[in-house]
Amino acid sequence: MAAALEAGSDFTDRPWEDPSAKPFIEFQGVAKSFDDVQAVKGVDLAVYKGELFSLLGGSGCGKTTLLRMLAGFEEPTEGRILVDGEDMAGIPPYRRPCNMMFQSYALFPHLTVEQNIAFGLKQDGVPKAEIADRVGQVLSLVELEAQRKRKPHQLSGGQRQRVALARAIVKRPKVLLLDEPLGALDKRLREQAQFELMKLQDETGVTMVVVTHDQEEAMVLSTRIAVMHEGLIQQIGTPSDIYEFPANRFVADFLGNITLIEGTVTAVDGDVVTLETPEWGRPVQVSDNRAGHRPGDRAFVAVRPEKITISQKGVTPNSIEVGPVEVGPVEADASANRAAGVVEDLAYLGDVTLYRVRLESGLIVEVTRTNTIRGARRSVDWDSAVEVAFRPDNALLVAG
Ligand code: ATP
Repeated sequence: MAAALEAGSDFTDRPWEDPSAKPFIEFQGVAKSFDDVQAVKGVDLAVYKGELFSLLGGSGCGKTTLLRMLAGFEEPTEGRILVDGEDMAGIPPYRRPCNMMFQSYALFPHLTVEQNIAFGLKQDGVPKAEIADRVGQVLSLVELEAQRKRKPHQLSGGQRQRVALARAIVKRPKVLLLDEPLGALDKRLREQAQFELMKLQDETGVTMVVVTHDQEEAMVLSTRIAVMHEGLIQQIGTPSDIYEFPANRFVADFLGNITLIEGTVTAVDGDVVTLETPEWGRPVQVSDNRAGHRPGDRAFVAVRPEKITISQKGVTPNSIEVGPVEVGPVEADASANRAAGVVEDLAYLGDVTLYRVRLESGLIVEVTRTNTIRGARRSVDWDSAVEVAFRPDNALLVAG
């Protein structure tokens, strides 16, 4: 289940799993070319009411173009976009039920917070009393009442981002479009702002579509994520679906650290696939044959670093050292896939330690271990000869 849902949102159902549910936003075969550049190459996508949906991908993958087409700043070369059942073709941005928050925030420097937020309503000719009322409500929602008379340069980056958000939601759009909304914030503020966005979504019920290149941000925020690459959607799913069951090698690699071991299938027994792989040095077994692999197929075994264990070679955890020593679980399971290697790199990250282990073939295996004992001495250090292991049911097979 998505982080946003786990964090207590009311959005508890999964409309995308219900064939009778009606999408709120639909992209149907949407493509966009700029002269000789095919920015978007045929996208089908359905977003449901109340979702916080992320378009995630590297630079130039077409995610901003997709968002700009939804906002009405670009027209598709092919296909159509529907919002609440209505075809958006030919409808200008200001007549669409969407409001976009730009990465730069685009605040007016000479206007106060309050005036910035009220600007769009004034332009629409909303009566004064109603403007005051609505601006007051959103100021309270984004917790900027105390700063209402300040100008943008008198605010922190996080506060400016909240003014931009307030200005986007005060018009009560049905869809809020956010282009790298947290890009200008430092890490600590980003984390805070992520929760604020989720809270805002929860309190207003607005459907949000967010463009980001930051996989961690997408994982935290989203009900679902579409991972894009070269103008195409590679996978759509909840953060945990995409992390745990990446559809292909690109998605596996894009979301977090992962070890990919290339091999050839030699046997299939029900769900258990055996592969020959020079990279691992001995046969590997994986309990995952969703793709229906057959002997002779090439595939990648994908294993996340937290699903791999590491131990000093030839030493059982009980016999290593006396006193508080981080040992971590060692596979008791005889079926585990094991390989010997040497710790080439080690990074202490506070909550976890990341080990990069070089196998004889040169393959780097990334392993994380949670640091559960404060001040513990490491049993595994730089240049340690180690054994890494993972269970067949903790790995996946992905196509190249
Ligand atoms: P970034 O994160 O760097 O903004 P993106 O995934 O949002 O990347 P887009 O801005 O959608 O990518 O661009 C996709 C492709 O289309 C790129 O190759 C880009 O150079 C091209 N492109 C985008 N807008 C235009 C334009 N107006 N004219 C010509 N080419 C464009």
